Amino acid sequence: MRYITANFIIDEQFKLLSNALLLVQNDGTIQELLSGEKDPEKISSVDKNNIEFFEGVIVPGFVNTHCHLELSYLKNKIQEKTGLPGFVAEVEKNKTKDSEIIRECILNAEKEMIENGIVAVGDISNTNYSLKQKQKENLYYHTFVECYASNKKYADKAFKHATKTVEEFSKLSSDRNRASITPHAPYSVSKELFEKLNHWIKKNNAIVSIHNQESEDENSMFNDGSGKLAKFIQSFGTDAKDFVIGKNSAHSYVNNIPKDQHLQLVHNTYSVADDIQTINNYFTDSYWCFCPNANLYIENKLPQLNLFTKENCKITIGTDSLASNHQLSVLEELKSIQKIYPDTKLTELVQWATWNGAEFLQIEETYGSFKKGKRPGIVLIENVDLENRTLTETSAAKVLA
Ligand SMILES: [Zn+2]
Repeated sequence: MRYITANFIIDEQFKLLSNALLLVQNDGTIQELLSGEKDPEKISSVDKNNIEFFEGVIVPGFVNTHCHLELSYLKNKIQEKTGLPGFVAEVEKNKTKDSEIIRECILNAEKEMIENGIVAVGDISNTNYSLKQKQKENLYYHTFVECYASNKKYADKAFKHATKTVEEFSKLSSDRNRASITPHAPYSVSKELFEKLNHWIKKNNAIVSIHNQESEDENSMFNDGSGKLAKFIQSFGTDAKDFVIGKNSAHSYVNNIPKDQHLQLVHNTYSVADDIQTINNYFTDSYWCFCPNANLYIENKLPQLNLFTKENCKITIGTDSLASNHQLSVLEELKSIQKIYPDTKLTELVQWATWNGAEFLQIEETYGSFKKGKRPGIVLIENVDLENRTLTETSAAKVLA
């Protein structure tokens, strides 16, 4: 048994406990979290020589709900701040088929995530390049096999490819690996393809993760068929008019995604209050994922976070890929949020980065909080401003278990 303490430990209600003590079995399973206020006698009965003390705040392992491991080889290759169409063009230009390089970069990216205190990942996959690494079960993975084809002519082909890929990942099925098919984005999936996907999603009771409102042009395409994105999909022979609904893209999900599935909307850089309300009212369980460092990398613009907290959205945190980020660290994403929204409480940030992500991925029985019997990972955040209870520029994650 290990006895671990720090200046603060985050409890299940996401409160900062001082003088608390975490009892941990040698395999990382939580035995008990003793509160300095409620259990002072139990705490003082523990031999002081056996207690490990750390400077900082102890939190459960981080859940990264949006990543693209297979793009890790694009680290430092993509020009920054070119906007979404520029980014897509850069990715195409730098694509490689050298599977050895791709797999080696995946291995390094996973190592980086582990060092940064990440314990579970929602990973978007278009190929099976990450299969070997996921098989090692170093982390929990939910593989979202992404499906897209804006032109209805290719709906069948795209769906068949996704079904084949998800079958490969499903062979890994365990308490460390799950897989499902998910639509890529509202502008890249035709009505016909959405129908096929919905059938699969309902049948498999799958969770859904979709890229949402990542660019201004996505909204204009759905409002009136104008903008760069509309032109882009027209270059594949798709009729952009098929997507026009006279409203922002987020409103299209009401007709296109089953109401009762866990739904995660990723990026939300150009979402406004009306979009957020529509989604929250229609879907039983919606989650809003933010990858601020990727938004700064691609569009140099951030979502209006205050709109989402005002609507009591369930917020999750993603790193996106190394094509659009300098590192894979949930804590670095939180630091960026705190910098721009300094009033955000540390406890709130941690809840987004741990519990909310675990709940979305449906792994909260093991991850996301310190509760007896769970094995959520134990992470120390060092260099915290303990007086103001905020992250600082130099805050860093250290894995304790
Ligand atoms: Zn993404």
